[in-house]
Amino acid sequence: MTDWTEPEFDPQSRFDNIDDIEPEFWKKKKLEDMSKTEWELLCDGCGKCCLNKLEIRGKIKFTNTHCRFLNCQSCLCKIYEHRFEKVHDCRDINLEAVREQPRWLPKTCAYWLLDNGQDLPKWHPLITKRAASVHEAGISVKNRKLVSESGVSDFENYIVEWEDL
Ligand code: SF4
Ligand code: SF4
Repeated sequence: MTDWTEPEFDPQSRFDNIDDIEPEFWKKKKLEDMSKTEWELLCDGCGKCCLNKLEIRGKIKFTNTHCRFLNCQSCLCKIYEHRFEKVHDCRDINLEAVREQPRWLPKTCAYWLLDNGQDLPKWHPLITKRAASVHEAGISVKNRKLVSESGVSDFENYIVEWEDL
């Protein structure tokens, strides 16, 4: 049997080599021209893309149910390296996903913001160089009322209308 457990990841370690990255690269490059490292650094670690969603009359509705593999404290995936093997509908965050209509990424998502001509917000970890700033700004799912998807079948009863979705 495969062991899916992955060692807990220190979110701050994503920024260990930040000084080797071109300063403010996100202002100089389109998403399609970014390196894999730059692309990965853009993710603010909010965890909102790991909430379950429903498409209702052409609009995406978020629920406060989360993928069973989301760590609700760190807001990171517990099985990042194996996520596509283990969760059939886990989405790769690529350009196609960012541009998909109806929009399913939250409107605070860095990829969506940049692709729509906006700048990174001041709380973004690439600006602060601190992974925790997304939590301190109240943007992540940390400390929100969440329910694990395990055992939930009536997802429509968990729809939330948070302003930052
Ligand atoms: S919504 Fe966007 S910024 Fe937030 S965790 Fe998902 S990909 Fe990263
Ligand atoms: S498996 Fe996919 S949806 Fe689930 S927590 Fe990991 S990245 Fe998020």
